Amino acid sequence: MFNDIRKPENNISFSSFLSADYARDYITQDTPYDEQIGMAAKTIREADHVLIGVGAGMSVAAGAEYGGKFFEENFAEFQRVYGKGPYMQDMYSAGFYPFPDEESRWGLWSHLALIAGADLDVTPLHRLLIEAIADKRSFILSTNADHQFEKAGYPEEQIFATQGSYRRIQCKRGCHPKTYDSVELFRRMELERKDGRIPGALVPRCPVCGGEMTMNLRVDDCFVQDDDWYAAEERFSRFLSRALGCRLVLLELGVGFNTPTIIRFPFEKLCREHENVSLIRLNRSKAIVPASLGSRAIGISADMAKSITDICNALDQTGRSES
Ligand SMILES: [Zn+2]
Repeated sequence: MFNDIRKPENNISFSSFLSADYARDYITQDTPYDEQIGMAAKTIREADHVLIGVGAGMSVAAGAEYGGKFFEENFAEFQRVYGKGPYMQDMYSAGFYPFPDEESRWGLWSHLALIAGADLDVTPLHRLLIEAIADKRSFILSTNADHQFEKAGYPEEQIFATQGSYRRIQCKRGCHPKTYDSVELFRRMELERKDGRIPGALVPRCPVCGGEMTMNLRVDDCFVQDDDWYAAEERFSRFLSRALGCRLVLLELGVGFNTPTIIRFPFEKLCREHENVSLIRLNRSKAIVPASLGSRAIGISADMAKSITDICNALDQTGRSES
């Protein structure tokens, strides 16, 4: 009798969105750059919904630096204490150093979390993009932990940052489902650090089990998904379920092959399974797209600061000539 279990036609959850199914027919498109920019602008223009998928390449394109001279200048203290190699080369590797104690681990991590998170401000490119799509219904799915779209003024409730935050810490064992905003604690650590170490009194302890704390970044199975995480997941699912009934464009920015199952492969799958969905993939070097998606996929391998700017300008011009 109860065959009235009606689901919205395209009810899609985050877990059903995820995909490990990679395309077997990747190609590098040989369409000239200017033509690709025009096609991308037209695709966005004609869509009512835009889902933006953001990877590490977006922050880099916008100006964030993780290694080289920038690292030498900002992590000189740690290079002096630990030597340069192989860990003290860039911000990714530095976090993996086998620190001798908690005071040393938090000495590095508080500094890194501030530089890569709270104090990072590379938002002009983000702002440009936000303004260009202001008349669309949009949502951001991001693997970045640096909050750059939020800082650029994009509504926080339309962002799902799946891999954590440089602002927050959690129990290292993940013994309870809570995370803690720790920017102020990081600032105190920054002030009191000496030779890479913070005072023992500042080392955070889990308020539940008394054990060690760690950054709320997804590095293992102990990653804590708190209430805010699940609320964002729910909003993402609602947006996508609705968007799939309309003209949806997936705008993928700087997503590589580190965690392709969160944005890259799922975007291809959505496009494959729904004819009203298009994919615009921007990447400095890896903008290969499945040949089978035909003209619904545009892969632009170029400096992303330039390609994003060019697309936004093209959108602006189309807007003006049509109004
Ligand atoms: Zn705990």
